[in-house]
Amino acid sequence: MTESESSPYAPLSPPVIAAIRQAVGDACVIQDPTKLEDFSRDAMAGIEKFPELVVEPTTVEQVRALLQLANVHHFPVTPRGLGTGLAGGAVPVFAGVVLSMAKMNRIIEIDKNNLIAVVEPGVINADLKRAARRQGLFYPPDPASMDTCSIGGNAATNAGGSSCVKYGTTRDYVLGLEAVLPNGELIRTGVQTRKGVVGYDLTHLLVGSEGTLAVITKLILKLLPHPPAVSTVVALFRDLTSAMSSVSAILANGCIPCALEFLDRNCLDLVGDSLPFESARSAGAFLLVQADGAATVVDAEVEKMGAYCLDNGAIDVIWAPDSYKRAQMWEVRKQVSVTIENSSPVYIPEDVVVPIAGIADFVDNLPDFAERYQVKIYAFGHAGDGNIHLNITAQSRASMSQVEEGIYAILQKVVSMGGTISGEHGIGLAKRRFLHLELAPANVCLQRSIKQVFDTNQILNPGKIFQ
Ligand SMILES: Cc1cc2nc3c(=O)[nH]c(=O)nc-3n(C[C@H](O)[C@H](O)[C@H](O)COP(=O)(O)OP(=O)(O)OC[C@H]3O[C@@H](n4cnc5c(N)ncnc54)[C@H](O)[C@@H]3O)c2cc1C
Repeated sequence: MTESESSPYAPLSPPVIAAIRQAVGDACVIQDPTKLEDFSRDAMAGIEKFPELVVEPTTVEQVRALLQLANVHHFPVTPRGLGTGLAGGAVPVFAGVVLSMAKMNRIIEIDKNNLIAVVEPGVINADLKRAARRQGLFYPPDPASMDTCSIGGNAATNAGGSSCVKYGTTRDYVLGLEAVLPNGELIRTGVQTRKGVVGYDLTHLLVGSEGTLAVITKLILKLLPHPPAVSTVVALFRDLTSAMSSVSAILANGCIPCALEFLDRNCLDLVGDSLPFESARSAGAFLLVQADGAATVVDAEVEKMGAYCLDNGAIDVIWAPDSYKRAQMWEVRKQVSVTIENSSPVYIPEDVVVPIAGIADFVDNLPDFAERYQVKIYAFGHAGDGNIHLNITAQSRASMSQVEEGIYAILQKVVSMGGTISGEHGIGLAKRRFLHLELAPANVCLQRSIKQVFDTNQILNPGKIFQ
């Protein structure tokens, strides 16, 4: 929503608030203004709107009751997981009710025989990983925010992470869903089996729909056997171009890393001292290469990938000596975006994806963009699937129009290369204005029609994805 966009919804009246309280129970309603602030934003800086009320259900019946009332009284409901989103998706732009799913957080079942987990949406990603691990199983999706984000939010944004290069995104692990439609009706989609082709694939329509089509209340997730071993090398390069050439060589030669993460020179300037390698800060790029699988093969696999890095100009390849140092490196990688955000008054995270063969060419052009639009670009991310997090910063909000122009130009370049403007974070509120760069009018029209079918009265997470 822009400053000039007015709300099509009337404020919640006292009788409507009373009806909500009666329908869902006082215990799960938050109306205290000092507490509403916590639900006014997500992790995307600069977008904030206070809800009038927060409902924190513990049962699916409460979700249904709220949505039924929203249809009758026409108030907006914004689903929320744990608010770590980076596109403003959980921000209640038209106020109304925030539906926080944080307290529906039970791991209902880990079924070792069928390799599935059944969970409520508020379960924290890392908690599910740990629960699966205790049974010898593996839930691969690993957003860097895994300690603080919810599985429901992951499904709604189709979250990815470092392991995507080998294991894919959240969508690849959602077999079935229970969800409440905007009219309050409960549906079950998908299967509990490894396969299923019955009717349209509503499960995977809801995954990635950013809380605009339905509220996810239960998920059936695929699990894998836990890989027995992991091995990691780190390669340091003079420049990002040779790091990306190494990535292409690794993938083109049939290696299957479970992570291929990079940091550029600007990131190393900021966080290099925290890495457990003396020369990291002075390097031009850093590549973390990891393999998992049978203990007998992982070391040989990373050695081979390290050799491809040396062939493509690595100045040093360092074996991550122990699990403590490996954890230290991953922590730096996970925290890099927060460190960048804290370093600059203007911070805009973009998460573009370019075709793997075009990564080196794309990153080569970044300094030109930075100079032309007077911004500083920190690039890091999942090199193995071409997902480059561009953290665009500037020292003053006075130059915002130039920053916006720069972002537009970068996204145009991405699309012209056959890439996509968002690999993980989604469109939400932050990227609505760029949708047309990637989607043709007929495509947007079809998507709007889908929204209309699901949400006739436009009460569920309005103002997101489409302008
Ligand atoms: C430091 C940091 C690192 C990050 N790293 C990654 C990364 O590596 N990969 C990645 O993909 N993302 C990453 N993110 C972004 C974010 O963590 C993900 O988008 C995550 O999936 C959001 O989960 P959440 O529970 O916080 O959802 P929220 O932010 O609360 O909500 C996100 C969206 O999902 C909708 N939603 C939430 N729950 C439901 C539900 N039950 N039913 C329907 N809709 C729902 C909301 O309406 C909103 O549109 C990162 C964020 C931070 C701050």
